[in-house]
Amino acid sequence: MTKVIGNTVIIEPEPEQTCELCGAFAECRPYGPNGEQICYECGMKDLEATKLAFERRLLDDNRYREIVISVVAGVPLETDDADD
Ligand SMILES: [Zn+2]
Repeated sequence: MTKVIGNTVIIEPEPEQTCELCGAFAECRPYGPNGEQICYECGMKDLEATKLAFERRLLDDNRYREIVISVVAGVPLETDDADD
């Protein structure tokens, strides 16, 4: 479950749910064109739009100083400063 601790976002695996664009039951992220929960395949259809949605959601307000991406809940895989 993705969580925020202080000004750090820890992105972790999410339970599967229905993709708001294609209806697939899969792990989804809120990076649709209007913040919809979308599956990986939909996110890859327009990589640039997904990247913009990700940045809009996580980077624009400068609230988060660090983003940690984890493939296993509770185990950070890599970190990336939000300042880059
Ligand atoms: Zn989808």
